[in-house]
Amino acid sequence: MDYQHIVVLTGAGVSAESGIPVFRSETGLWENHRVEDVCVPEALVRNPRLVHDFYNTMRRNLKTKDPNPAHRAIAKLQQEWPQRGGKVTLVTQNIDDLHEMAGSMEVIHMHGELNSLLCAKCGRRWFNDEDSSPEDICPHCKAQAVRPDIVFFGEIPYYMDEITAALAACDLFIAVGTSGVVYPAAGFCQYARAQHAVCVEFNLEKSAVATNFHYGLYGKASQTVPAFVKHLLITGQLLRTDEEI
Ligand code: NAD
Repeated sequence: MDYQHIVVLTGAGVSAESGIPVFRSETGLWENHRVEDVCVPEALVRNPRLVHDFYNTMRRNLKTKDPNPAHRAIAKLQQEWPQRGGKVTLVTQNIDDLHEMAGSMEVIHMHGELNSLLCAKCGRRWFNDEDSSPEDICPHCKAQAVRPDIVFFGEIPYYMDEITAALAACDLFIAVGTSGVVYPAAGFCQYARAQHAVCVEFNLEKSAVATNFHYGLYGKASQTVPAFVKHLLITGQLLRTDEEI
């Protein structure tokens, strides 16, 4: 029987081959900045201009990036699996829009989006693909409290109810390009597996939570993910070893 509900979780590794640097957890650096300078709530109080400028630069760079075969394969799975009676929920930790550019219609951005701003006063979020600054005024409540719509360390990710419900219902859980060190996403596999989902990770090397998965396919996501999706769409079965790719 085909898998009824597949949950795909992606991390920075799925976008690495599109030219977006991953998060260097071992050095604590992200795009040559210390995480505590650009990715914690206190940074917005200490130096809001630095925080805005950091994400402005990333947002501008994003306009030059294209999705890679891994994004496209995930979009294909999302489009074609429902024709077999199944469902695919795509959850990403990424703040880029490469899944959407690849054709994914519904993407759960649990850590926010570069192309979005948030009002810290009224909580509203809106699309924005231009530079922002600490002087910006919220278009809804008129407060000078506009910030990048990024979930910082120490903040609660978005859509946790929807994600938890999807994990509880899934029978196949796939994690692509995520190091397994940033929680709560790092704990999703354990939760899905406890609900009897088959769990597969895709990474260059074993992640910090590799032992929670049933198995992994190791190599570039642009190669492993399309091969896995093609096999799944043709046979309904899981591709299990590198040799089969
Ligand atoms: P991470 O940077 O901690 O880990 C990336 C993982 O991807 C690593 O385990 C690495 O081995 C793997 N990887 C690298 N290149 C790969 C490839 N070509 N194929 C397969 N795997 C590859 O990323 P994370 O686990 O997502 O957590 C970091 C946090 O930083 C997240 O919250 C995320 O929002 C944020 N982030 C986002 C982006 C983005 O939006 N593209 C980029 C960097 C960081």
